[in-house]
Amino acid sequence: MLSGFFKKLLMAKQLRFIEGDVAIFNSTYLLYPASIHSHLRSLLNEGNSAKSGKLLYTLGFRTSKDFSEDLDKRFKVKGMESVALWRNIVELQGLAKINRISSNPDGSIIVGAISSLAKDDLRKNEKTKVVMDYFIAGFFAGIFTTIYDKEIECVETKCVCTGEAECVFILKPKTSGS
Ligand SMILES: [Zn+2]
Repeated sequence: MLSGFFKKLLMAKQLRFIEGDVAIFNSTYLLYPASIHSHLRSLLNEGNSAKSGKLLYTLGFRTSKDFSEDLDKRFKVKGMESVALWRNIVELQGLAKINRISSNPDGSIIVGAISSLAKDDLRKNEKTKVVMDYFIAGFFAGIFTTIYDKEIECVETKCVCTGEAECVFILKPKTSGS
């Protein structure tokens, strides 16, 4: 079933199918199985797992940064106003289902979500001992970096792949040295 947001994009002609290309705003979209992420992760892990997490994070960060700058120009929504829009986009992409977004007294933001990548991984493999959603953490960091117009970093502290009920992401401004 099409989500309401998906329908709205179609109506506003912001989701287009042109000569085999699927485009949302100016970005071309591909539909591929979530397992591409698990293959990418294992290929990167063959080298060095710490480095692989960083690469996936950077990949997520750059991917959402491109898109969010485009979105920012079109909608001119700033700060937390654009969070609802982002929630729709993350869910439309099938990346994660967002359960909650809350802010802490210390200014950090907590996002509770069910990662589609972790869920897919758990269906095929055993539970892991460590979190795995570096791509999504980077993706969220890219979104909030555009929203706040300063570099935000994101760390996943709990993950569905370890048997937790949801993945938990903590976002805060990047401090020098981190
Ligand atoms: Zn996770």
